[in-house]
Amino acid sequence: MGEGEEPLRRLYESIINKKIDLNIPNIFQKQNGKIKRPSEYFFAESLDNLPFPDYRLKNSYLFIRGHNEIIKIPEEALKKRKFFGNSFLFYGQRGCNFSCTYCSNSLYHKLARDSKHKWHRLASPQRIKKELKTHLANLPFVNHIAINDDNFLVRNAEEIKNIASFINKDLGLTFTINATPPFVTEEKISLLVNYGLRGISFGVQSGSERILKKIYKRFVTNEQVIKAANIVSSFKDRGLKADYGFILDNPYEDNNDWRDSLKLWLSLPQPKTLSLYTLEFFPGTAIAERALKDGILPSLRSEFNKDYRRDIKYNYANSLFYFNTINIPKCINKLFMSDFMVKSRVTLPLRIIINRYPIDFAIRLINKSKYEFRKLLNLFHAKTKNA
Ligand code: SF4
Repeated sequence: MGEGEEPLRRLYESIINKKIDLNIPNIFQKQNGKIKRPSEYFFAESLDNLPFPDYRLKNSYLFIRGHNEIIKIPEEALKKRKFFGNSFLFYGQRGCNFSCTYCSNSLYHKLARDSKHKWHRLASPQRIKKELKTHLANLPFVNHIAINDDNFLVRNAEEIKNIASFINKDLGLTFTINATPPFVTEEKISLLVNYGLRGISFGVQSGSERILKKIYKRFVTNEQVIKAANIVSSFKDRGLKADYGFILDNPYEDNNDWRDSLKLWLSLPQPKTLSLYTLEFFPGTAIAERALKDGILPSLRSEFNKDYRRDIKYNYANSLFYFNTINIPKCINKLFMSDFMVKSRVTLPLRIIINRYPIDFAIRLINKSKYEFRKLLNLFHAKTKNA
């Protein structure tokens, strides 16, 4: 569990030398049917010291989940492009400065703290530039970088400028980032837009301050989200777009909580898109421990094969969220969010019907078909090469 660079090297060496080492950090063992935890954990002291991921992809294979197949990743540039697409997913950080209870970061923060390590680490701009240059030499068709750090804006303006100007001026590419709302400033966004930033994804998670503070331990206010959204929206003429993610299916939420989330979403300025996720109780996270203790979750088994993007429950509230992915008029939202529609006994039969026969079925079907089609297409490209 955790980071693999050093543990896998030691495991490999121990297998090659035929001296099985039972004390490798991060490796769990099963002895006489019992799971034995490692006595110590490995966390890389500096990301700059790690080798680059190898995108030459010589004799590389991929396990396709859901299809239970192992396929060879194409090596020829054109096939590689069809397989990967033109956008390159890149990480320049590990961890996050936050520790929200539902996120794996809460687990790793604790593990790192207990073993006197640091969880949130940033690669230096020098390392990032060198690494990107190396990857692009192996993936020359890439025309966009999707920086997938949890919060790119945690860096200071100087570092942001250093990285962004390299991507834009030296590599000639555009890019997108993820960010946490309190870190958005006009100075940083303006700088990034000047160097080719095209989109920002924000995790908002909930518009209910009760859920944010008491359940998620996520100390971001609605005012901070709105302020960040307004700054980003002021750059819409420069092509900047924002995506906002919300978590659904939280058993700790009541009818007021999900309506607070929807109200917050509706108050955010255009251009915007909505991403929806189901609350997944990842084993070891603070919220999973709490749900087990509170008897909300009988066991973690139900969570093992859950897909947090697609396994969203069908119900009245979620139908309304799904309809907002296609921007329905505010008056319809207002009606369906009213106390009369949500709480009244008169409208109870309608809510039962919507719970049983979800009106958002078609939207979900289209989303799912698109997702499956993309997956099959990638599989097809890989297989035609290897046939
Ligand atoms: S801010 Fe996002 S990435 Fe960071 S701990 Fe919270 S949910 Fe996880």
